[in-house]
Amino acid sequence: MALVVMKFGGTSVGDAERMRTVADYIGRTVRRGNQVVVAVSAMGKETDDLLHLATQVSVSRPGREMDMLITAGERKAMALLCMALHDAGVPSESFTGSQAGIITDTDHTRAKILDVRGDRLREALAQGKVPVVGGAQGVSTGRDVTFLGRGGTDTTAVALARALDADSCEIYTDVSGVFTADPRIVPEARRLKRLNFEEMLEMCTAGCPKPAMRSVEFARNHHVRLHVRSAFTWEPGTWIEEEDPELEQAMISAVTSDSSEAKVTVAGVPDHPGVAARLFRALADHSINVDMIEQNVSLQGTTDISFTVPHEDLATAEEVSSSLMGAIEATEVLADPDIATVSIIGAGMKTHPGISATMFETLAAEGINIEMISTSSIRLTCVVRADVVDKAVVALHRAFNLENE
Ligand code: ASP
Ligand code: MG
Repeated sequence: MALVVMKFGGTSVGDAERMRTVADYIGRTVRRGNQVVVAVSAMGKETDDLLHLATQVSVSRPGREMDMLITAGERKAMALLCMALHDAGVPSESFTGSQAGIITDTDHTRAKILDVRGDRLREALAQGKVPVVGGAQGVSTGRDVTFLGRGGTDTTAVALARALDADSCEIYTDVSGVFTADPRIVPEARRLKRLNFEEMLEMCTAGCPKPAMRSVEFARNHHVRLHVRSAFTWEPGTWIEEEDPELEQAMISAVTSDSSEAKVTVAGVPDHPGVAARLFRALADHSINVDMIEQNVSLQGTTDISFTVPHEDLATAEEVSSSLMGAIEATEVLADPDIATVSIIGAGMKTHPGISATMFETLAAEGINIEMISTSSIRLTCVVRADVVDKAVVALHRAFNLENE
């Protein structure tokens, strides 16, 4: 008998029929002798709808009331799921985050979990019931209802798995796992059986949309194995767990791309101390989140500094950089929205030489120019023109033979 925490996302419980299908699946799992605890998201686009409603009603949108409003979405879903479970003959009980004993800090709209008491969940389990917990919520040390932020139900699930010492934490979603590339770009992309936490985190930063990065970090920090899988086909998905030192690590596990950033180049600045410091302090003072940075010293004693920022920060980053042109003696500031990044990720990269050479040769063979390069010990990222990024993903997937296990 295993204790399993199951998280169901918004599309998994998007309508009445989905609710009944999920309840049926939970029932089958319980009848096979397992104990199940559920964390459920708001149905479909409900969270977006509630947020939109709030913007129509209020300009100030106080955090306390926003959290009370948004968590209503999960509350509705948990009650409906328990009704469906009842009809499927599965005893269950719904719990708000507060009732489940999820204690958070007081940072409304993005609260952090401080403790999970879980007494009532243990009682329900002991009575043979399936506890269904409203996701992404808790009660603050100030006794107010709090929301954990977008994607917070994944975090709820991981926190419950840790507190209840569950055997696994299953993240049910509308994709059947984590793939070697986005299957919409690479039809031959293959579902990965396993990945380690570091690889998954690098994939999250390099453009992989699911699962939520914060929950992967939380799972890594608390040693909770994740199983990302489909709530539509119910087939086994991808395990995300600690690196097994006994197992040989895949050289390259996946190719990802990201079109959410833009590039700024500050050209012709003198090559002396303090230039980069002034520029990046000014950007930081405007809360601009800089990602990649590249600087080259030319033989003439001047340098160009390029950096990438999220698209929504491009205008501000350009303004800030332009306003410093005199102070840092730059000759030009160029803003370029038409870039994208392509990345290869793999834990085996650490011990295999020649991976970067193969990546660059592959892009060269496609006639794709590399504009910036950044690396970590298990990731290589190139900035390319946005209109060729899909071609780059396809070519790299093939070059590293990712369609074959
Ligand atoms: N419903 C919330 C959201 O969409 C929480 C979650 O789904 O994890 O952000
Ligand atoms: Mg959601």
